[in-house]
Amino acid sequence: MERMKTQEVKIGNVTIGGNHPIAIQSMCNTKTEDVAATVAQIQDLTAMGCDIIRVAVPTMEAAEAIREIKKQISIPLVADIHFDYRLAIAAMENGADKIRINPGNIGSEERIKAVVEKAKEKNIPIRVGVNSGSLEKNLVEKYGGVTAEGLVESALDKVKIIEDMGYDNLVISIKSSDVMMCVRAHELIKDKTTHPIHVGITESGTVKSGNIKSSIGLGLILSQGIGDTIRVSLTGDPREEIKTAKLVLKTLGLRTGGIEIVSCPTCGRTQIDLISLANKVENLVAEYPTLDIKVAVMGCVVNGPGEAKEADLGVAGGVGVGLLIKKGEVIKKVPEEQLLATLKEELDHWSE
Ligand code: SF4
Repeated sequence: MERMKTQEVKIGNVTIGGNHPIAIQSMCNTKTEDVAATVAQIQDLTAMGCDIIRVAVPTMEAAEAIREIKKQISIPLVADIHFDYRLAIAAMENGADKIRINPGNIGSEERIKAVVEKAKEKNIPIRVGVNSGSLEKNLVEKYGGVTAEGLVESALDKVKIIEDMGYDNLVISIKSSDVMMCVRAHELIKDKTTHPIHVGITESGTVKSGNIKSSIGLGLILSQGIGDTIRVSLTGDPREEIKTAKLVLKTLGLRTGGIEIVSCPTCGRTQIDLISLANKVENLVAEYPTLDIKVAVMGCVVNGPGEAKEADLGVAGGVGVGLLIKKGEVIKKVPEEQLLATLKEELDHWSE
């Protein structure tokens, strides 16, 4: 697929845009002021394959906490600011690698200018984000409601305000909880800008519905070559966001690395507690973000090994035992309760 031509933007030690891999983002759900909890969550997400992390900056204390957080993490940090331009400036002074603002709620042009001047001084990119929930009244009236056209116009207007201030180190995001409106907006903006695009379906819901909406939305957008960084938004553990983001990119052939799981749907032949095992395997493989293999989880010995043939590794249920399968061959029989640990040993071996 041909990717949209975008300029490169450097966010700390990660570059997005151009031909760079699509970076995975997530957002902490800890209080940013709680440095220990925030650092622990960032380290956990980093180990799972998160490339860029965002934190909320609702207070000056949160802006100041960035300095300490940055000392203890290895991935770039984005400060998420609403309303108060002073927080954006403080976040940059304390080491944020990028800021996310909605110029529409920052206030006067003077305040936006103060933020832009600080970003310029430190060469920190700004993500200009517009959201269907906060589309300007004049655009709602112009287009007869909240529309993809209105969202695009709003985003490009805001980008122009900052460009006119002499700064173009920008990333654009257009978010809507209406998946097809979001897709349409991205299709419309594709030929209208060269700034990298941050793609995400906002307020997409709980883990189940959010995964479905995000996968459809991101899939349709990314498959048209649009998108330089993505965030899956879920009402749930941010670890789930990383898992989903990786799977979306891997499924579209946009990223290598990360173990792909195939598992059977279970049937009357199932001989182990496969549903529980498949969930445990899914959590286990998240610990190996760079291992690029396929693992099959199969319920029975009748079809399991055969169906697992195309996988690099597999586990299957036998009568009272669990089988470890490598390239379709059964290489070990262990008690069912040891199957997960046996698979882990094998994965450790593969990742050496
Ligand atoms: S692998 Fe076995 S248990 Fe799973 S669906 Fe196929 S026949 Fe049923």
